[in-house]
Amino acid sequence: MALAGTMATAIGANTARAADKGLIGISMPEKTTQRWIDDGNNMVKLLASKGYGTALQYADDDIPNQVAQIENMISSGAKVLIIAALDGTTLSDVLAKAHERGVKVISYDRLIRNSPNVDYYATFDNFKVGVLQGTSIADSLGLKDGKGPFNIELFGGSPDDNNAYFFYNGALSVLQPYLDSKKLVVGSGQVGMKVVATPKWDAATAQSRMDNLLSAYYTGKKVDAVLAPNDNIAIGVISSLKGVGYGTGSMKLPVVTGQDCQVQAVKAIEAGEQTSSIFKDTRQLAKVVATMVDALLTGSTPEVNDTKTYDNGVKVVPTYLLNPVLVTKANWRQDLVDSGYYTSKQLGL
Ligand code: BGC
Repeated sequence: MALAGTMATAIGANTARAADKGLIGISMPEKTTQRWIDDGNNMVKLLASKGYGTALQYADDDIPNQVAQIENMISSGAKVLIIAALDGTTLSDVLAKAHERGVKVISYDRLIRNSPNVDYYATFDNFKVGVLQGTSIADSLGLKDGKGPFNIELFGGSPDDNNAYFFYNGALSVLQPYLDSKKLVVGSGQVGMKVVATPKWDAATAQSRMDNLLSAYYTGKKVDAVLAPNDNIAIGVISSLKGVGYGTGSMKLPVVTGQDCQVQAVKAIEAGEQTSSIFKDTRQLAKVVATMVDALLTGSTPEVNDTKTYDNGVKVVPTYLLNPVLVTKANWRQDLVDSGYYTSKQLGL
């Protein structure tokens, strides 16, 4: 088993010295989205300060890799698994193994679907993320004041990520009345996650879809708003728009939303290119999860604040929801720098 050997070495290399209170496995999806790196680092730091050893692994966007990494964490004796799943539906077998060994599972940020062996879920209010994105578009365009009609294009997140549907539905809950009254018009007519999703949340995929939309539907007119569900997608969309001249002369860039407050996005917000992003304070999420770990391993019940919303297809998973915050040019410094999340130097601003 060459693979198992390699994985074992990889785990060995990334395992903080197993402290008295036992080993916690942390499985993160990929490293191209800055937030997952911060999530992983925050959690290792916090769990170490509470006396746990940690095995932090990144699956590099590869599902079999994530399964193998989790298997390895189980055989290395992890007592709790903290998992941000690549594909929310592919972990049933490996989680059954975890359950047989008495290993507890916390679904991190993204809900793991179709498995009874998900003990708890900690995340930000994903529907609210979408509501904030929709509100950012409605407010920036002045829709409430009766302005319009405006042209809009919609982008969704990765179709294998449960969150993507919550974001989309949250945003549409705000935008739908304006679509119905035709104050907002989807120029391409492309509506619904089936057609607007962006596999793997990939910036290049978003950029090429935006290129196609602009050349097929926007030769004689302008797009006024783009619903981009996260900063990766916003970055792809904005670079497509700039490629055909938006952002120069009288071609104003449209309203473009985002999520995560990645450094590049914050710079784009300050430069007036991206309208908004969503701040999800990953320090808070790490704190909630570390507290859950402690509770699980000391025989007490982790605190949750939502026992209704997150049905994973087999059970409603008890959830702790954190509050996402809309960030614009007006408040990024206060929310991101004054709160100590970023230094000015990190942002270069
Ligand atoms: C997370 C977002 C992130 C996206 C892409 C989602 O599940 O909630 O914060 O932008 O995945 O990594």
